[in-house]
Amino acid sequence: MAPGSSILVVEDEPAIQELIAVNLEHAGHRVLRAASAEEAQQSIHDALPDLVVLDWMLPGDSGISLARRLRSDRRTRDIPIIMLTARAQEQDRVAGLEAGADDYVSKPFSPRELIARVKAVMRRRAPHLTDETIEVAALSVNPATHRVTANRQAIELGPTEFRMLHFFVTHPERVWSRAQLLDEIWGDHVFVEERTVDVHIRRLRKALEPTGHDGLIETVRSAGYRFCAS
Ligand code: CA
Repeated sequence: MAPGSSILVVEDEPAIQELIAVNLEHAGHRVLRAASAEEAQQSIHDALPDLVVLDWMLPGDSGISLARRLRSDRRTRDIPIIMLTARAQEQDRVAGLEAGADDYVSKPFSPRELIARVKAVMRRRAPHLTDETIEVAALSVNPATHRVTANRQAIELGPTEFRMLHFFVTHPERVWSRAQLLDEIWGDHVFVEERTVDVHIRRLRKALEPTGHDGLIETVRSAGYRFCAS
C-alpha cells in the first residue's frame, strides 16, 4: 500500500480503538479516529479517508446506518468500508454487506487479520492506493519508486503526470470527466480549474509519444478522458 493511505477508525471502545490504530500505523497508514458516527461524519466531511474501519455497535447512530449514509452520497459512496462486530451470525453478516460494507471482521480478531483484510479490500477497491507495479499495454508503472517504463524504456514524468497515469492504468476503459479526475488525482476539496486537467493530459501524452503510448489516452468529446488498455 502506498505510504500514507489514510484510514478512519470508528470505534467507541478506547482500548480497541487504540489497538487498531496502533497496528494500522505500524503497517504504514495514517490513522484518523472517531468514537461515534457523528464524529466520523465530521472527519469525513473535513477530508475523505482512503478506507473506513467501522464498528457496528456505536453510541447513537449505528455503524450500519453510517455505512448506508456513506453509500448513498456521491462524494463518499466509493470509500471502502470494513465492518467490525461482535456479532458473528450469518444474518448480521448479510445485513452488513447489504448496507455497503466491503468486508466484515468479527470480534475478537487479531490485528494481523484486520491488516490482511484492509490490504485485500484496498487491492480490490482501490488499486491506485496500493504500491504494486501495474503492467498494462507494455507500460509498467511502479508507485513505490515512481518509475515508469514503456516498451522497457524509462519515461520521465512529473509528479502530477505520474499520479494521473497511475490512476488511468488502475481505472482503464471508463470515461472520467475533468471534475472526477480533479477529485481523484488532485484530491477532494482542492480547488483547481478544470482546464488544468487538459494541461497535464497534454504533458502526459507528450511523454508517452516516443513509444506510441500517447494514443492510449483518448479524448471523449464533451465527456472527458478514457484510458484504453486494449
Ligand atoms: Ca462498539
